[in-house]
Amino acid sequence: MIEFEVLGEIGKDNCVAACVATGTANHRLLLDCGGNCLHKLPRPYLYGMQAVFFSHFHFDHYAGFDELLRAVWCRPGPFLQIVGPPGTCRIIQHRLLGYLWNNAVGLPGGFRVSEFDGKQLRIIRLLTTERFEIAHEEPPVATSGLVLQHEDFSVHALLLDHGTECLGYRIQEPPKQSINVTRLESLGYGAGPWLKAVRNPQLADSCTVDIGGAPQLLGDLRRELLVTRSGPSLGYLTDFRADDADVREQLRQLFSHVDTLICENNYRDTERELALQNYHLTATEVGTLAVELQPRRLVLFHVSDRYSSTELQEQLQEVRAHFVDASFPESWHIG
Ligand SMILES: [Zn+2]
Ligand SMILES: [Zn+2]
Repeated sequence: MIEFEVLGEIGKDNCVAACVATGTANHRLLLDCGGNCLHKLPRPYLYGMQAVFFSHFHFDHYAGFDELLRAVWCRPGPFLQIVGPPGTCRIIQHRLLGYLWNNAVGLPGGFRVSEFDGKQLRIIRLLTTERFEIAHEEPPVATSGLVLQHEDFSVHALLLDHGTECLGYRIQEPPKQSINVTRLESLGYGAGPWLKAVRNPQLADSCTVDIGGAPQLLGDLRRELLVTRSGPSLGYLTDFRADDADVREQLRQLFSHVDTLICENNYRDTERELALQNYHLTATEVGTLAVELQPRRLVLFHVSDRYSSTELQEQLQEVRAHFVDASFPESWHIG
């Protein structure tokens, strides 16, 4: 499952801490690093961070990065992965070079930084022992959106328009297979260790298992008993316009039926002009987008600090007029 928490206060910088929990591993991921967002997370939690995905590098999405940097800069083991839009490699390296690292030589650690331009990933490695001075380029990787692949989850990105390039992300666990218990009972087969073999992809369909003294082909049992359902997913969309029909279609392709969609809502409908000018969505635009994408639930964040809590309640109603299952993060106690 994918757990998540929207960090940061109402009307201030926000970001999202997500965790892909498989039962045997917890993969900790961050979506943006707003100012004063990460201090709530214990240092050991930050130390175990696997990757951070930046939508873009405006202050309100990046100002808290140093909290993470402090936790991981000389961490042995896998480098922290950093993913963002074009310019990410330069911006991250400049941030690192903005500090003094005379005591870093000989220490482990580093960063693997990727930037996605809609067609390919440019990837560099920055090493702690080199004081992050050398950008070690990896061969670029052609991709239409896959920016991180792990056996337990994948992350896809979509290039959006915020007056600058901005990325939206979908974290996705692989499809899950389970046994159809009703079917199992109707076939009269008792549960047993053979069910493990049915679920084991390393055993070929032509293998047999013994059920009640009779050999049965795994292929036949799988067709009868295995049910495949899509894995848990989380979408993250912030700071963008989606007026263009092509972008709309790309949004549908990547985010349709995501379990949870976390989406910005910086402007009420009355401030449409400002929303257009600053490349954000109005409440109605968020609601109608959700109608197209059909997430199981919509979580709104990144709201304006100019609105009172009554106005935020009204803003929520503007979204709910189109998409009912919308809410602010529970910890905000609005609505
Ligand atoms: Zn922005
Ligand atoms: Zn923003």
